[in-house]
Amino acid sequence: MSIIKRAIDAQGLVRVSFIDSRDIVQKAVDIHNTTPVVTAALGRTLTMAALIGSGMKSEEDTVSTFIKGDGPIGTIVCTADGKGNVKGCVANTQVDLPLKSNGKLDVGKAVGKGTLAITMDLGLKEPYVGQVPLVTGEIAEDFTYYYAKSQQIPTAISLGVLVDTDYSVKQAGGLFVQLMPGCDDETAALIEENFTALKPVTTMLEEGMSPDLIITSVMAGLFFKDLDDAEYEYRCDCSREKIEKALISLGEKELLSMINEDHGAQVTCRFCPEVYQFTEYELGELLKKAKAK
Ligand SMILES: [Zn+2]
Repeated sequence: MSIIKRAIDAQGLVRVSFIDSRDIVQKAVDIHNTTPVVTAALGRTLTMAALIGSGMKSEEDTVSTFIKGDGPIGTIVCTADGKGNVKGCVANTQVDLPLKSNGKLDVGKAVGKGTLAITMDLGLKEPYVGQVPLVTGEIAEDFTYYYAKSQQIPTAISLGVLVDTDYSVKQAGGLFVQLMPGCDDETAALIEENFTALKPVTTMLEEGMSPDLIITSVMAGLFFKDLDDAEYEYRCDCSREKIEKALISLGEKELLSMINEDHGAQVTCRFCPEVYQFTEYELGELLKKAKAK
């Protein structure tokens, strides 16, 4: 379980949230068996998805982030809801690249050039979709750019994943700061100064800095109050019903080939180890539904 601490300044102009996401990222590593650079890329994205999810108004709302780069990692997909669930997957879990000259994992190279898209399902008729080009592929910069460009919300984001020598997750966390419309230049400059003075997230966690102290450091010089904590966990909500829907949406041709050539289907969830078996007969029932569409 990972706790998201949140705060807002007295005038309602600055919102800050911080998550120690080690548990979430470790669960992702346990499920996907990722190499360190993939752990960092997926871990940063999961951390960000949870931070966005915790800011949604309704528990039924969901957010999905799609990082589509031309690097070896392939597409990274993460989904979070307003209830505290977050999950994610990557196309290639086994990427291995040399470290950067500063000794850090080369997430930018693993992700490559491409786009970041965010889909918000807020229970309206159509989901909201926003998309921007990737700036560096280092994830935090890309989300920062997304909010500046697509939402016109000045945003500061710091995401970090520290992978231990045994490939377990030593530290992971994220800091998300947003200036609301109407924020004056003086407050904006103060927040920027406070944010810039902070060490990287994983360094702060390694040094034992508490989430409360991190938030206090961002808000230094402002009156602020804590908002309710949010609890997030890596949890997959897949079900046989959802997999059936996905199979139906593949269409008649695909279903027929599963029946006639494969004599059944075995579907593994992209986000968790769950495996769903379908017999020829069951696929035939799905085919009827696909035909009725
Ligand atoms: Zn699943």
